[in-house]
Amino acid sequence: MYTLIDGKAIADQVKAEIAEEVKHMLAEGKKRPHLAVIIVGHDGGSETYVAHKVKSCEQVGFTSTRLAFEDTITEAELLAEIDKLNADPDVDGFIVQLPLPRHISEQKVIEAIDYRKDVDGFHPINVGRMAIGLPCYVSATPSGIMELLKRYHIETSGKRCVVIGRSNIVGKPVASLMMQKAYPGDATVTVCHSRTKDLKDICLQADIIIAALGKPEFLTADMVKEGATVIDVGTTRVPDASKKSGFRLCGDVKFAEVAPKCAYITPVPGGVGPMTIVSLLKNTLLAAKGEIY
Ligand code: NAP
Repeated sequence: MYTLIDGKAIADQVKAEIAEEVKHMLAEGKKRPHLAVIIVGHDGGSETYVAHKVKSCEQVGFTSTRLAFEDTITEAELLAEIDKLNADPDVDGFIVQLPLPRHISEQKVIEAIDYRKDVDGFHPINVGRMAIGLPCYVSATPSGIMELLKRYHIETSGKRCVVIGRSNIVGKPVASLMMQKAYPGDATVTVCHSRTKDLKDICLQADIIIAALGKPEFLTADMVKEGATVIDVGTTRVPDASKKSGFRLCGDVKFAEVAPKCAYITPVPGGVGPMTIVSLLKNTLLAAKGEIY
């Protein structure tokens, strides 16, 4: 019988811990942690994510500022807004919700953020520091995955870990964390991508599979060995007439047939997703406490 990794429950637990810490900070006369979020345009997904982030800030007692701009904003104007936040002493950390309109370079925007306020952990300085094991802001999704492994006491040392996907926001950083000399980590990591040959054979050797490719139900039971741990990062919207929204979120794992083979598995939704926002809150708390920089 497998153990379902309950990301929602862990996220609630971590939020309660953060809220408690904020209370202590205020009691000591410190200021409330403050997260600012920049959103450009009216992408439905982005608006939902930002609303969740703002709501989560309220839940843990942070101040949050939502700065919304029309998608007609120029790159120079957006960079000027970033500079204002860089210079604002009350803002501990901020993020720019991606994706951005095509006329704005995401890379320029990421690099314009002061790395000491980069609570999304996308700035090359934070990415580099993570790669060499220095204190930094780790990006939210990989950090959330590590927290789940930790809270469920899942053994990673010496385990074979296969990461499917090599994006800068999930695959690469999670692979880097799984191989770091620490817990969770110390795993022997293989990273697969769209050019990988014999992906099924590679997956069959894995003790831990982290599926982050964005292909609904890609990982099937014949690719998973008995007793494996499977972390499903995928969240693809697939049409579903029975839902009010007209879609449902589908993971990269064919859950019904894979779960019975697993020791541990995350569901979608309710697995990695809820942990992502919590990781952002944790980074903001670290920023407010000045614990990293
Ligand atoms: P991405 O940038 O599209 O990267 C996908 C990766 O998967 C690429 O490296 C790609 O290989 C690889 N890939 C695609 N098809 C493949 C195949 N058939 N076999 C092997 N590898 C394949 O995606 P992402 O931003 O990392 O996101 C991945 C998934 O996670 C998406 O569903 C996304 O919505 C979800 N996500 C969820 C959260 C959360 O909070 N739960 C957060 C972030 C992302 P190439 O590099 O060769 O193209």
